[in-house]
Amino acid sequence: MSSQFIPLMDPGRGYVAYRDEIDVAVRKVLEAGSYILGPSVTSFERSFAQWCGIAEMIGVANGTDAIELALRTLEVGSGDVVFTVSHTAVATVAAIELAGATPVFIDVDPVTLTIDPQKLEDSIIRHARSAVTGSARAVIAVHIYGHPCDLQALQQICRRHELLLIEDCAQAHGARLNGQPVGSAGDAAAFSFYPTKNLSAFGDAGAVGFPSRELADRCRTLREYGWRERYISAVGGMNSRMDELQAAILNVRLHHLQDEIDTRRRIAACYGTQLAGIVETPATLPGADHAWHLYVARTARRQSLRDSLQKQRIGTGLHYPMPVHQQPAYANRIALGHGGLAVTELAAAEIVSLPMHPFLKEDELDAVVAGIKAWHEGRVA
Ligand SMILES: *Cc1c(COP(=O)(O)O)cnc(C)c1O
Repeated sequence: MSSQFIPLMDPGRGYVAYRDEIDVAVRKVLEAGSYILGPSVTSFERSFAQWCGIAEMIGVANGTDAIELALRTLEVGSGDVVFTVSHTAVATVAAIELAGATPVFIDVDPVTLTIDPQKLEDSIIRHARSAVTGSARAVIAVHIYGHPCDLQALQQICRRHELLLIEDCAQAHGARLNGQPVGSAGDAAAFSFYPTKNLSAFGDAGAVGFPSRELADRCRTLREYGWRERYISAVGGMNSRMDELQAAILNVRLHHLQDEIDTRRRIAACYGTQLAGIVETPATLPGADHAWHLYVARTARRQSLRDSLQKQRIGTGLHYPMPVHQQPAYANRIALGHGGLAVTELAAAEIVSLPMHPFLKEDELDAVVAGIKAWHEGRVA
């Protein structure tokens, strides 16, 4: 049994690992005297766009704003319906409402826990006939945990029904489907750099990507008070600027991102072999390169597993303990798609996130595996 507590994530190790590079980058910004939307932001936008295979990237204040700005840029708002999932970080849904649009929740696929394309299309067709809450405008596909959604199916459905496709990539930096990076399949892509995400700042930050210069220009205007020219608002906008400090840190960390994702993949492979038959390990569909933001296993005996691991000084998490449609702010207020959310609700009762981050040491990984085996064999209840 390990004596040090092994947390689910450990963002502070991301500083220790690159301390020298980060200290230099931070000092440069402090000395340069330009602290918001300066040269570090511009260079990060360019580098991250290239890394993602997306034409244009706009640095913003956080991932929630990135989704809201994607919607506003695409002129989705009041009177518009946006289909998304209830099995997500609440930020996805909050952003839809902040943009003035109306969310409708679609159930997820039982294997990947990403939006179920068949249920999406059934719901779109039903919505068109019922005309309940507004006109169907967009789908927000969430690449939950880092597993890519079925983008090909979603692109076809969105084309057939003339809907915009927005990708919530907050958990999926580096994920690909059949070689195509997430974020490059739709009309906009939103990223978060919250300190625990695959690419993370030491504070809040986010980015929104677009396939065209025209959309990017519109988003840049909205990002800062609707200014095209300083102090003259051409349209009503918001303040969602990225800090130079965060951008400089992100520039350093972007260089290490691919290695970190490779490490995440090695950890996931180890869990996959060691824990098969003990818990339900997450499946990766053929053609999918999972980015492993989270390693989410399933078991009907979740509470017992979590209690046992806690005793063994191993942290676990729930992503998420309550689907959005059951949370007090949203319950009985948001329409559910055709067929309801049975898969979402069952998943919420069984999922458990295991320690997963690129600085997890070999002996810590071994200790987590040993701890789960000890629970399974009834040695630590
Ligand atoms: C983290 C996250 C967000 C929001 O990002 P913030 O930077 O925290 O605002 C949105 N969607 C998903 C799926 C996330 O995991």
